[in-house]
Amino acid sequence: MAQEDVFKKLVSHCKEYGFVFPSSEIYDGLAAVYDYGQMGVELKNNIKRYWWDSMTLLNDNIVGIDSAVFMHPTIWKASGHVDAFNDPLIDNRDSKKRYRADVLIEDAIAKIEEKIDKEVEKARKRFGENFDEKMYRETNPRVLEYTQKRDALHERFAAAMSEMNLEELRQIIIDQEIVCPISGTKNWTDVRQFNLMFSTDMGSTADGAMKVYLRPETAQGIFVNFLNVQKTGRMRIPFGIAQIGKAFRNEIVARQFIFRMREFEQMEMQFFVRPGEEMTWFNHWKEFRLRWHKALGLGDHKYRYHDHEKLAHYANAATDIEFEMPFGFKEVEGIHSRTDFDLSQHEKFSGKKIQYFDPELNKSYTPYVIETSIGVDRMFLSVLAAAYKEEVLENGETRVVLQLPAALAPIKVAVMPLVRKDGLPEKANEIINSLKFDYRCQYDEKDSIGKRYRRQDAIGTPFCITVDHQTLEDNTVTLRERDSMEQHRVSISELHALIGEKVSFRTLLQKIVNE
Ligand code: ATP
Repeated sequence: MAQEDVFKKLVSHCKEYGFVFPSSEIYDGLAAVYDYGQMGVELKNNIKRYWWDSMTLLNDNIVGIDSAVFMHPTIWKASGHVDAFNDPLIDNRDSKKRYRADVLIEDAIAKIEEKIDKEVEKARKRFGENFDEKMYRETNPRVLEYTQKRDALHERFAAAMSEMNLEELRQIIIDQEIVCPISGTKNWTDVRQFNLMFSTDMGSTADGAMKVYLRPETAQGIFVNFLNVQKTGRMRIPFGIAQIGKAFRNEIVARQFIFRMREFEQMEMQFFVRPGEEMTWFNHWKEFRLRWHKALGLGDHKYRYHDHEKLAHYANAATDIEFEMPFGFKEVEGIHSRTDFDLSQHEKFSGKKIQYFDPELNKSYTPYVIETSIGVDRMFLSVLAAAYKEEVLENGETRVVLQLPAALAPIKVAVMPLVRKDGLPEKANEIINSLKFDYRCQYDEKDSIGKRYRRQDAIGTPFCITVDHQTLEDNTVTLRERDSMEQHRVSISELHALIGEKVSFRTLLQKIVNE
């Protein structure tokens, strides 16, 4: 199945089974805003718990906070967001559609790359086994022509972006003859800077009102609380502060479902270290975070690092962890070495001293920071994309199964009486009553057992328990496992331990430590 089709199916599966709904749907929706349904909220909470526990349980020098969405507006001046958190935008006068100028050019570069790949594939078919791809790419005149074109465009684009030369960005769009996908015309406006922060007014009186921003990242809430946490928690460097919370960005082009939203959630951790030790810690966190991802078992080959060549002015190292989404490898998490930029800026703008006295060195300094920043929603999408499978069974039927990591699954166990009589429903409920304190259970008595299994497969439930007449005699049930579909007769007294071994966060967290 083409990856585009997989993605479309995933989006409709999310809606059909209560994972994700478009926001305000009965009013025709609100662009790039989504609601999580009864299944989605459980999966999302489990992702958050996995992250939170991996930070605060596995690291005794990391504590959490929960800061407010609204913050003093000067914070965003200090952080650079008011002046520099911009995307270059351009409008097409005919379709009245708005685009990110950089994305239009990136798409043009990707199109040239596609042409190169097509030539290579054609040649591969023609030459068969003897095909030497490297040599072909280096010598074929047409491929060379495309490659030169791509490199020249890339270089010109990178230069324009690093200087934020808006006229040059527009000129590239004109020179490349890029057309609007809707109107098909080249009738473009000038390129303008567009600030991504949402703002609103705080205060009830007109003259007393203050312009405040909805935070575009959670990190600043951590920086401005650095001293509070360090002092009250008696924290010694190195230490970290973790936070999960909503962030808001007025994205110009919001596409690809929950990949790019205007309201989303971040899980960020800022780790404060001695100046000079930041690269050691940067490498530590880079490696730790990849282990966290891989422990989920979604497939090691689906991850890659993407080191940044061009760094933000405050950073001295940065890398992304990319995941293979149905639409290609995309950033899910960023790991950044932010130097002492943020704390120094807040010291400057607030006029308050923000330093740490290091008893071992017997001196004060502004700590350096390593940040790990991951979007909950992007993580959610990557988990679902990897878990969604359509399998053809031996009897020719197709089943849709979400092979979710068991600890993240919304429902852990479904309990089903074989028939709706003879005391079997009562027995099933008895089992639920003994398991429900630890595992989210679902009772299901409608339709055939086969159909009930399919329903649970579609929401990723790792275990189904079937209660039949034999259960009443010997207290055994059938335990069916989602991925293998294997069924075993087990005693009710064993259920708690058998399920726990597979679905517990403990098992998952231990994998990070032991890998
Ligand atoms: P992108 O280049 O894709 O816009 P970014 O580099 O601006 O992302 P960061 O500012 O580093 O992203 O934010 C950290 C993380 O927050 C990202 O890795 C991503 O998982 C998440 N994130 C950022 N913007 C969005 C968004 N609009 N919707 C959903 N998640 C987002």
